[in-house]
Amino acid sequence: MQLPYCEPYKIKMTEAIRTSTREERERWIREAHYNLFKLRADQVMIDLLTDSGTESMSDRQWGAMMTADESYAGAASYYRLKAVIEKIFGMPYFLPTHQGRAAENVIFSTLLKEGDIVPGNSHFDTTKGHIEFRRAVAIDCTIDAAADTQRELPFKGEMDLEKLEAVLKKYPKEKIPCVVLTITNNTAGGQPVSMRNIKGTAELCRRYGIPLLIDSARFAQNAYFIKTREEGYADKTIKEIVREIYSYADIMTMSAKKDGIVNMGGILGMRSEELFRKASQFNIMFEGYVTYGGMTGRDMEALAIGLDENTEFEQLDARIRQVKLLGDLLDEYGIPYQRPAGGHAIFLDAKKILPNLPKEQFIAQTLGIELYLEAGIRGVEIGSILADRDPVTHENRYPKLELLRLTIPSRIYTDNHIRVIAAACRNVFERRESITSGYRITFEHPILRHFTVELEKI
Ligand SMILES: *Cc1c(COP(=O)(O)O)cnc(C)c1O
Repeated sequence: MQLPYCEPYKIKMTEAIRTSTREERERWIREAHYNLFKLRADQVMIDLLTDSGTESMSDRQWGAMMTADESYAGAASYYRLKAVIEKIFGMPYFLPTHQGRAAENVIFSTLLKEGDIVPGNSHFDTTKGHIEFRRAVAIDCTIDAAADTQRELPFKGEMDLEKLEAVLKKYPKEKIPCVVLTITNNTAGGQPVSMRNIKGTAELCRRYGIPLLIDSARFAQNAYFIKTREEGYADKTIKEIVREIYSYADIMTMSAKKDGIVNMGGILGMRSEELFRKASQFNIMFEGYVTYGGMTGRDMEALAIGLDENTEFEQLDARIRQVKLLGDLLDEYGIPYQRPAGGHAIFLDAKKILPNLPKEQFIAQTLGIELYLEAGIRGVEIGSILADRDPVTHENRYPKLELLRLTIPSRIYTDNHIRVIAAACRNVFERRESITSGYRITFEHPILRHFTVELEKI
């Protein structure tokens, strides 16, 4: 008999999960103004809000933290991380930041001015926030197929090179400080980008003399999909693939809290010494001195090992298999989600699940609240609350997709938890006809409103 699959690790420490009753959850979500971000974590049974900084570190990572160097300047831990970044990404210059958006803050402070244009494939919300905060414009050049949740494409997060070239042609070079390529494409459902598309984007950037910035939060998952789905890469290691990806990039920002498997940290990497000197100024002002930025020595040690470990096939395989298990169960129950299953999450198609709810009543948010009430499971809305209002007209923006993201943090939950999640989704799906009204906003901030928005039931 062939032995079944098992995870390439065993578990050394556990954390108790708290359960609750439906009555308790009804009270808690009302007190949280129907914003899942405002719940206390101990009011949640299975937390799928994000994988950001919530993943389980290895014994090697914990061990390295004990021998970290906390020197203010020139710490050994900084040089260890620097060596790993050079080896894995081939980036000669880097600045440590406290998380991904901090790297965005530093690089966009260096590069962006009012009225600039930044094309990309579905800019992540903090990226878009940093661009719009500086009165610049993020232009989405994602392939149209990404908005069709039922279409199966191996690389559904790609940049549409024709759309990108049209933007590069239309505006003068001085107005486009960089092109942002996000791998994997989080907003479009954790969907990957092929090496062919990365290369094609880089070639266009070269031709128009514009630097390519890779938003790298889930670079390792993207490399996994290139290895398993793109012709010519099956025999390459994840590390070889990552090295090739970054040979096409001029700048990289990374939220290390995702594929770096650390609780806190970010990276701003670049090839240009001149850019590094300019960006260092902002790093010192916003983050900290160049050799620690926003990170402690302990953070940098854990990240150096996390990057090395999570660019091994077996680690990525275990995580992505678990996401696929959830997708397979949802298929069995006929529940629509962004297909195929992504690298870090399943994105439920809320418009298809609740077709009778008008978009003005926040469809994906409503689905998220129902799933919480059902089983204490916390997902996150990727829909019109996240999309904010248009900065010029102040009208609500209604994106094509209303998704509820269920993020599976690496090495946190077991397959049994996945089965509970799928069953809870099924229960909500079965009573979908009875969900006929949603929510309205009673308080919001102008940018990144989803974190603090308050709602009431209609
Ligand atoms: C998480 C994320 C960011 C922002 O990183 P933080 O660490 O949350 O500040 C940027 N881009 C992408 C694609 C992300 O997933």
